Amino acid sequence: METLEFQAEARQLLQLMVHSIYSNKDIFLRELISNASDALDKLRLAVLQDGLEADTSDLHIEIESDAEARTLTVRDNGIGMTHDEVVALIGTIAKSGTAELLAKLKEATETKDAALIGQFGVGFYSTFMVADKVTLTTRKAGTDGHGTRWESAGEGTYTIDDAPDAPVGTSVTVHLRPKDEEDALFDYTDEWKIKEIVKRYSDFISFPIRMGSGDEAATLNSMKALWARPRSEVSDEEYHQFYRHISHDWTDPLEIINMRAEGTFEYEALLFLPARAPHDLFQRDARRGLQLYVKRVFIMDDSRELIPDYLRFVKGVVDAADLSLNISREILQQDRHIQMIRRRLVKKVLSTIKDLLNNHPEKYATFWREFGRAVKEGLLNDPDNQKAILDVATFASTAGDEPTTLAAYLERVKEGQEEIYYLTGESRSQVENSPHMEAFQAQGYEVLILTDPVDEVWVEAVPDYDGKKLQSIARGSVDLPSEKEKPEPEGDFGPLLTFLGEKLEEQVKEVRLSHRLTTSAACLVSDANDITPTLEKMYRAMGQEGPRVKRILELNPDHPLVSGLREAHERQADDPALPDTAELLYGTALLAEGGDLEDPARFAKLLADRLARTV
Ligand code: ADP
Repeated sequence: METLEFQAEARQLLQLMVHSIYSNKDIFLRELISNASDALDKLRLAVLQDGLEADTSDLHIEIESDAEARTLTVRDNGIGMTHDEVVALIGTIAKSGTAELLAKLKEATETKDAALIGQFGVGFYSTFMVADKVTLTTRKAGTDGHGTRWESAGEGTYTIDDAPDAPVGTSVTVHLRPKDEEDALFDYTDEWKIKEIVKRYSDFISFPIRMGSGDEAATLNSMKALWARPRSEVSDEEYHQFYRHISHDWTDPLEIINMRAEGTFEYEALLFLPARAPHDLFQRDARRGLQLYVKRVFIMDDSRELIPDYLRFVKGVVDAADLSLNISREILQQDRHIQMIRRRLVKKVLSTIKDLLNNHPEKYATFWREFGRAVKEGLLNDPDNQKAILDVATFASTAGDEPTTLAAYLERVKEGQEEIYYLTGESRSQVENSPHMEAFQAQGYEVLILTDPVDEVWVEAVPDYDGKKLQSIARGSVDLPSEKEKPEPEGDFGPLLTFLGEKLEEQVKEVRLSHRLTTSAACLVSDANDITPTLEKMYRAMGQEGPRVKRILELNPDHPLVSGLREAHERQADDPALPDTAELLYGTALLAEGGDLEDPARFAKLLADRLARTV
């Protein structure tokens, strides 16, 4: 027998379990049944696809209780685990984001935030909420090695031993804590209690869950595939339990989507829109995709072929009637039917989002806050659905605190306005205070405020919406319709512009007068066809070093600094203070839009020198 130590994270998680962070302890049984069901799926699949030789004629889960000994055992004849797998899977927490999860769990227990606690599935370890000892015995199918026995009291260590007689599959025995403890544990050896828990949490499990032996053995669950049952017959609670089983997300889903297609190619689908984005939504290696079943038989998890990446947060099951049971991932990728299903799922998900937008604004707001950033990736990757995605997208806007659809924006455009104005940036306040906004704000033109990194990219791919072009107000020249009648500025700015153009040759490609400024002296704009500085920064962050794109410096002729500069230059073109002023002007414009100065120390010095002369 060996005694081993739990990995540090596992120990921490166990601590939280032992000290019972969940008020609802019943769920430990659900977790054990869920694991058993997965193990049975895996065994059936190994037989179907890898030619493993094993008897799958009576795959089932068994529950046995002993009131006197105060034990509860959940047994399956599924895939089982090898010695090494027990150590790796039960002794450690392999999931990514564990540290983050633990931090949040801790915080939640301290603040007693039940909703936050409810977010995390904790699997096997949840047994330690009710147990003072847990014994797991297992033998892996298709190996002739010994079985393995694992045991722990949920403290720092566990023991591992040989179990020569263990049958194929896994058996978990929970040694319940004494009943008279202050937290008054239910008697989990009580038959009625067990039946109730199974019915409530695990009814849909597709293998029989049996209790009792011989003639008295009763199957506790209906085993009905939830997706095959009419919506009207299934309660929300049942859907929610199923959602937890497949997603390991403990927050109830926001929306449930049923689909069924009959005819030449039959399939059923049950999809869920989660209410919260997972922490790894933007990590490339995160688990994603749907579960694939063929005629009620589980085929694979995480089937990415069924749903495009930009809808990767959608969870659920697709059950296709006409696929082969031993279909591989490779074949899946090319399968015409799968592609067709995927197209239909996308349409259905987008129409569901549209329905939320139109009829359930609060749900929609939650959805878009959590997943809008992902959905917008579809504007780049799914040109066929670009219009449908734009229809359900909302954006922050200068018109108010509430995000707006593009359709609503178009209803508010001012007379003569031919374009949809937007400005990208890192935050709302940065965008709102950007000098580029000034004329638009002053004259009441609405500007969309785009602050997600993906916004920088999709705007390049979307030419227009409803015939109106999307126009960045930091690019090209602006010709506000209401500006047309404005008088020309007084004085000849030509020589000053030429002078500044030469002085700032390294930094900018042109210096010109602006129509977009009302209060600031200067701002920087991109040429209509050049990439924006934020995009440039993003490329650099990804390791793609491109040439620096020079921008255009625009001056506000009505600003006293600019008109004063013009006069100073007219008086004495070789005034030694002028080059420094040029640099200060440029640096200020850069700072105003939240940009980074190339040489902040030099800028600070120039500024201090200049200020010294005015105090
Ligand atoms: P999760 O089920 O969320 O992965 P658990 O802590 O419940 O987390 O289980 C960890 C792993 O241990 C499972 O992913 C599975 O590989 C293995 N495991 C647990 N229970 C069983 C079982 N009854 N049969 C086979 N393997 C199991």
